[in-house]
Amino acid sequence: MSYKSDIEIAREANKKPIQEIGEKLGIHSDHLLPYGHDKAKISQDFINSVQGNENGKLILVTAINPTPAGEGKTTTTVGLGDGLNRIGKKAAICIREASLGPCFGMKGGAAGGGYAQVVPMEEMNLHFTGDFHAITTAHNLLSAMIDNHIYWGNELGIDERRVVWRRVLDMNDRALRDIVTSLGGVSNGFPRQTGFDITVASEVMAILCLATDLADLERRLGNIIVAYTRKREPITCRDIKADGAMTVLLKDAMQPNLVQTLENNPAFVHGGPFANIAHGCNSVMATTTALKLADYVVTEAGFGADLGAEKFMNIKCRKAGLAPSAVVVVATVRAMKMNGGVAKADLGDENVDAVKKGCPNLGRHIENVKSFGVPVVVAINHFVTDTDAEVQAVKDYVAEQGSEAILCQHWAKGSEGTEELATRVAQIADADQANFAPLYADSMPLLQKIDTIAKRIYRADEVLADQKIRNQLKEWEDAGYGDLPVCMAKTQYSFTTDPNRRGAPVGHSVPIREVRLSAGAGFVVVICGEIMTMPGLPSKPAAEMIKLNADGDIEGLF
Ligand code: ADP
Ligand code: MG
Repeated sequence: MSYKSDIEIAREANKKPIQEIGEKLGIHSDHLLPYGHDKAKISQDFINSVQGNENGKLILVTAINPTPAGEGKTTTTVGLGDGLNRIGKKAAICIREASLGPCFGMKGGAAGGGYAQVVPMEEMNLHFTGDFHAITTAHNLLSAMIDNHIYWGNELGIDERRVVWRRVLDMNDRALRDIVTSLGGVSNGFPRQTGFDITVASEVMAILCLATDLADLERRLGNIIVAYTRKREPITCRDIKADGAMTVLLKDAMQPNLVQTLENNPAFVHGGPFANIAHGCNSVMATTTALKLADYVVTEAGFGADLGAEKFMNIKCRKAGLAPSAVVVVATVRAMKMNGGVAKADLGDENVDAVKKGCPNLGRHIENVKSFGVPVVVAINHFVTDTDAEVQAVKDYVAEQGSEAILCQHWAKGSEGTEELATRVAQIADADQANFAPLYADSMPLLQKIDTIAKRIYRADEVLADQKIRNQLKEWEDAGYGDLPVCMAKTQYSFTTDPNRRGAPVGHSVPIREVRLSAGAGFVVVICGEIMTMPGLPSKPAAEMIKLNADGDIEGLF
């Protein structure tokens, strides 16, 4: 049996005009700023006008540690949103926008898959409403103004060797990782070594996603530390006087984008910060707006629950005053098998023992999520190769953990495949069983925050941090940054810092390589392992296959 590709399914979508989708949430067409027929931004005036509404229930979709077998968090987020609408609930989904890097690099879209997708998927994966271009431009305006400040006399006394603000581009381009700028003589400024990151790694992206309104955006942009003086005093974006103009460039990008699922249900697609050096969730603006308009809001956090859900809870929810009512942990039989030691090539063969052997990874994530005080349901994202016995093995394991696993077939069937999950999630959310609390208090010292996550989420024995790192954290505490949450950057493939250690390891150490202060976004990034902020393209980039056919349709995009 052959299956249609994601893009084939998306192209056959029976889309409704975006005004009709807005109506479902009570947004009058005057308050939608249309970008074509099927995309719109929601006006700030309208958002202000609904602040008195009661909030709906927030549901987080997260997952086990990802494996090359694929988990389907976005697909499940879309499927659950459609499932809730199917059973008569007023539900919306909130997901991230796509970066062009992965689009042209490795195949993999950001709009979900199969019959659980957001449309228009081509546009969502390409330029969409231009938010990422605006973020890129705002970021690079600041870069240009820093070099310009140095050029015109450097009144602030910036140490050219200590400019920490780089440039960004929404592309995988390893040639730009480390570069020398201002070559070519006196009129081009002072040569210095710097580089490019991908736009989703920009602190401006993280800021846009955490800001609560335009004033908060401007304040956070102003707080960005761009460089240090010879005496190691920080120079901020406010000192460079770029915060006002950057806010102007980002004014439209701050407004959430509304699109629809294949089943014509509302989908907010807004923001897309990296899940390693940033927090990996869609924007606070979109989530809080959706909560004012829908009774249930389903959203997704990047990577596995050890990173994505942890940061969703400890950074996004803490900072935005959000509290999830339920968490869905996505698991697949294939990923359980990989965690149980099966090679990717052998995933098609039934292997109940390997499924059982891999289940403790899922069990650990269930326990961790519960430790935030939020009830958990497991969604088994069904692949056509899964056998009944394998699915049953996962269900049995989860039941032994005191939780519940529900088989979902949204990829193949759309909302019909998530009716049971939706019913259960709505019940749990309505029962108000959640008693959400972040894992640590704001006032806890920074190193202790890291230690808490390492021990309680990763189940490590210890955190290894040399004196230089300890001193740095202490310095930031003395400078008034001690109240910030920490943003862990570690491999998504394992609870440990070693990507090859699958399952549920214990007794490991978490070595900290580096710490960085994102004073504008409002967190301290803790780097444990190699973190790539400018990816490269693979030997056969997806871009080689992408083209327009004779009808003008895009081919080769997923
Ligand atoms: P995540 O959000 O966890 O990164 P996605 O939901 O984006 O994952 O899914 C990744 C890819 O896997 C997509 O191309 C999607 O079509 C595919 N996929 C997801 N669920 C299934 C499934 N049940 N069967 C087959 N393919 C699936
Ligand atoms: Mg995703």
